Amino acid sequence: MRTYDTSALQDLDHKHYYHPFTNHPDMWSKGAHIITEAENVYIYDSDGNRYLDAMSGLWCVNIGYGRNELAETAKLQMEQLPYYNSFFQTAQLPAVELAEMLASVTPAGLNRTFFGCSGSDANDTIVRLVRHFWSCQGHPDRNVIVSRKNAYHGSTIAGSSLGGMSSMHAQGGLPIPNIRHINQPYFYREGGDMTPEEFGLERARELEKTILELGPDRVAAFIGEPIQGAGGVIIPPDSYWPEINRICQKYDVLLCADEVICGFGRTGNWFGTDTFGIAADIMSMAKGLSSGYQPISAVVISDRIGDVLDSKGGEFTHGYTYSGHPVACAVALKNLEIMRDERIIETARENTQDYLQSKVALLNRHPLVGEARGCGFLGALELVRNPATGERYDDKGTAGKTCRDIAIGNGLVMRAIGDIMVFCPPLIISRDQIDELYRLILKTLDQTQDALNR
Ligand SMILES: *Cc1c(COP(=O)(O)O)cnc(C)c1O
Repeated sequence: MRTYDTSALQDLDHKHYYHPFTNHPDMWSKGAHIITEAENVYIYDSDGNRYLDAMSGLWCVNIGYGRNELAETAKLQMEQLPYYNSFFQTAQLPAVELAEMLASVTPAGLNRTFFGCSGSDANDTIVRLVRHFWSCQGHPDRNVIVSRKNAYHGSTIAGSSLGGMSSMHAQGGLPIPNIRHINQPYFYREGGDMTPEEFGLERARELEKTILELGPDRVAAFIGEPIQGAGGVIIPPDSYWPEINRICQKYDVLLCADEVICGFGRTGNWFGTDTFGIAADIMSMAKGLSSGYQPISAVVISDRIGDVLDSKGGEFTHGYTYSGHPVACAVALKNLEIMRDERIIETARENTQDYLQSKVALLNRHPLVGEARGCGFLGALELVRNPATGERYDDKGTAGKTCRDIAIGNGLVMRAIGDIMVFCPPLIISRDQIDELYRLILKTLDQTQDALNR
């Protein structure tokens, strides 16, 4: 591996680079960790150290690193047409082809796609689109969108307003008006004495209560991640999504699935809506759409919505310069062709998913783990002082941060969300690599417990 003058790079970083989601003084105390190369499920830093990237970058490199076909596709597209827009009645070949591909892999009845550059802007598009949908049918007041506490829908003004992260709302006077947040289906911490089934129903029925309280003629849409990712891999009880389906249908509230993490195999099927049987009218997607090789997002809409917008919507006064960017679309298309032709999702489901989840289940035995849970290629560990009571070490996330740093020292990238450790390896991870992941996690948990008890 090539190595670099890390301290010189860290010095430049310190002087000039303002990072996203970073406490800068914290980072400077040890220097930014500079990642320089990647292959398969491994990343390498500027000192040549290797790490098993159990985060797939940021939940996105679903087909793994180092697929040179994607680089080749980008190069060819840049030579042929590096850029053109889709405004004012034009289109580019890769955007048309990718839109058709998305119609073929999404559930029946979802056939039209709007493109953007990030999951956040896709969710901004959803806000504008659902309000426009109701408005152009004569219901401009049907503009409230219901979301959930501890949801993550991105970091733009609308995305973070839809999201339910109080630390994000605290900066910048969010949320914007006409967004309502109901409680999340987080059984481990909030289930109390209920069974998972009862709890799932109760949390879903908060949507119905909210609709009735606001008046059904005020509620435009409900948005949710099939599994909350950044909130800590919150997997809803089985009763949750069917009840949400029922309520949305009963009150004609549009159901928006944020598939930015769950899409493209993460839960064992093409989409989280497939895994949970969610009857979505709209899906937002990004991350796995290009496996992170290019920044691109998509909002796929139902025929019902598309038909209304076609007949009554007039001009949709929304779009991004890079909507349908030809290079991003070409790379995403190639990524999906690889997934489809190599049967990456189906192969992972048949060969490695249960194996990974059997290892996750074993982690329940570790004395630092209050709950180990997972689904597909997602996993989460609740770090606690006392597994019997769920008592945490503290409310500052010390256990999580300690565990994350020890993991890095062991050559493993996991993420800490408070005291929840999460992981989501590339779908191409092998059984041997799952064994390696499991060994590294166990070692990291042992060392973390020692450090915390010292
Ligand atoms: C990452 C994420 C987003 C935001 O995507 P960006 O590309 O970072 O803007 C939105 N929704 C969910 C569920 C996500 O995980």
